[in-house]
Order: sequence, then C-alpha cells, then structure tokens
Amino acid sequence: MYSSITSFGASLADFQINGAMFRYSIFVPKFYNWCKSLGFEAGKIMPSRAFCSDESQGYPIILITKHFGTFPFNHGRVGGIVATDRHGPHAEHGQDMVIIQASHVGYDDSSHHFGCYKRLQTSSHDNSPSCGKVHAVLSWYINEYNFAKDNIYLSQNGKDRLITIDNQLLNENREEGLFLHLERIVEVDENGETHPIKTLSTAKSYRVSSRFQKMLGDFEWQGSKRQKIGDRLVPELFQFKRIIDETITDMENDRFLEKNLLNPMPWIVTSPAPLLMAAQVNTQVEFDRTFRTIAKEHGYRGKKLVFIAGLNIDISPQPGQLFPLTKFVPWAAYVQDRDDSFFTLEQQELVDILNRQSSENADQIDLEDAIHKMGVAKEVKVFV
Ligand SMILES: [Zn+2]
Repeated sequence: MYSSITSFGASLADFQINGAMFRYSIFVPKFYNWCKSLGFEAGKIMPSRAFCSDESQGYPIILITKHFGTFPFNHGRVGGIVATDRHGPHAEHGQDMVIIQASHVGYDDSSHHFGCYKRLQTSSHDNSPSCGKVHAVLSWYINEYNFAKDNIYLSQNGKDRLITIDNQLLNENREEGLFLHLERIVEVDENGETHPIKTLSTAKSYRVSSRFQKMLGDFEWQGSKRQKIGDRLVPELFQFKRIIDETITDMENDRFLEKNLLNPMPWIVTSPAPLLMAAQVNTQVEFDRTFRTIAKEHGYRGKKLVFIAGLNIDISPQPGQLFPLTKFVPWAAYVQDRDDSFFTLEQQELVDILNRQSSENADQIDLEDAIHKMGVAKEVKVFV
C-alpha cells in the first residue's frame, strides 16, 4: 500500500532471519572451528561476550566456555551494548581474541510471538517482555505514537479531503515528542508553507496532499464522519525528538541503547514485532560502532581477532527444560590478522562460512568433569 522505502526501511530489510538461524549448540562449535581455520591457536583464544544481563547470558555462555575451553570475558552492558572501554583489559587476557555481540529478543513458541519470555523462576512462570530493557526504552515512543494515531482524523468537507491534527502534535516548540513531516501530509503553497483551512479549539484541519492521498490507497472516505488515522500513520510521515542525556555513564543506565534506536524508531514502533526490530537495529548499529573502536584499540594491535555481531532469539523453555533454546542469527563479522590487516563479512557471506564448518569440536571440554576436578583438588591455603 505504501511504496516509499527510505534508507532505514531498506537497511532493516537486509537483516535476514529465515535461513540464517543457528541453534547455539551448533553455532558455537562451528564458530570455534572457523576461528581455528583462521589460524587461532587452541588454548590461547580468549573469548568475550557482549550480551544483555538476563536469559541471553546463561546457555550461550555455558556453550562458549565448553567449546573455547575458558570462561568468556564480559564485554556487555544491558540491552546488548558493547562496553568498548573494556577492549584494553580484554586484550591482556589472551593471545588470540574473540568478541561475540548479541542483542536479544524473547520468543514464545506457543503463540509465535516475539518479545516475551517465560521466566521459570517467577512465582507463576510469568511471561514478561524480553528484552526488558529494550521494552522499557520503547514504551515512551509507543505511547507517543498511540496518541498520534488516536488524535489525527481523516474526513471530507464537500470535495475537500481533510486531515485534522491535534494542536500538541503541531507544536514545533516542543523539546520532545512525535513530530509529523507535515509537508508530506498536507497541501503546501508555492513557498512550501502549510495553511490550515479551519482552526478548531484543540486541533487544525488541512487539505491532504496528493502524495498522502496516493499513500492512503484504498482508504474509504466517509463524508464528514471523522475516522482516526490509526495504522495509516506510517514511518515515512513522522520522526521523534527526545533529549538523551549522554552524560549519564552509569553502566546499567547509560542511554547508548536509546541513542542507537532513536532515528529508526518510526519503523520500530510501527513494526508488528517492535522488540525484534529494535534488537536487529541495535545489533546493526553496535557492529558498525564497535568495529571502528576495535580497529583503533592499541591493545589489539598485532593480534588475531574476530568480532561477530548478531541476534540471540531466546525461545521460552518447555516443561523439563532449564534453559532457553537460544538461536543465533549472525549479522556481520570483522576479522583481523597479526599484521593488522582486516576484512569484514556481510550477513550472507558469514552464514555461508559458518555453514561450511564442522559442528564437531575435538577441543571441547567436559564441564562436569572440570567441575568435579575442582571440587576434589587439593586445598590451597591462602596466607593473609
Ligand atoms: Zn535484555
């Protein structure tokens, strides 16, 4: 119905999920084997993960530990943000470097719904938003969008097709809120200026532009009866402004996540699965932001390094399961050699490379055995 796709819509469409999903139990050994094929040395690889703080952590980390033979360094902030100020300490922990970034989204297999997760440790196995942090960030924007959907009306006055817009949405002096691209929606004069044809107590009416009429497609005008714009308020017609205080640097409350999502937010709030789309966007922005910081990091100079970014889909556990059946959808990778040469891989190239790797890993450790050995090891006295 709506044909114009902007760069945001197009770049989001490039993130494929179908045909690109790996069960974690398959992804991690394949990824390990790919690293070894690049010359990484078994026992000298220091993996790191940049995951959110919740269910996205457990099962993937157990598998990373099992296949890489050591517990991964923590490069993650809530929401799947990479703590790029930890590159230096990470670099000191190993010879060959691996960083896995993943934003995450919950998935309920019974309803095929993205964005929720059954948390077994709550009193009645409650379903709650996942990622909870992304949900908290989106709430304000979704409220603003819902207000606009309910307070913009379409109607006719004789032959004129009109749009009536609440004054709050027309106030250009607001510091925050949803702002319409009015010039795309209503008729403008030869100077590009808009003029209401009727001023009401709390709203103004304009003639709709021919461009917007075309976008409305098969919309049924019903004379003077006012109809809410509803879902016809598509992302090409608005943007958000929000004051984001970047001086807040507290680890759990920084606003990197919100900054990453701000410009694509019209596409996120209008998506049938906002939490899924937000996680995809965050992965895309974090890869682009982080690979540049890695390339500049002094501590990584002269080291082999793979940075892979993707999406963790946390499938709510079934009865009898302890962990989510997490799947990984790779988005892109940065590969650096000891001479500091590097290349990046786009999604399909990366999926093809992983598919070609074996899922057998002869180097994997037996975690139960390792835990048992630690339990029966001779006590070491610590002298203070
Ligand atoms: Zn989360």
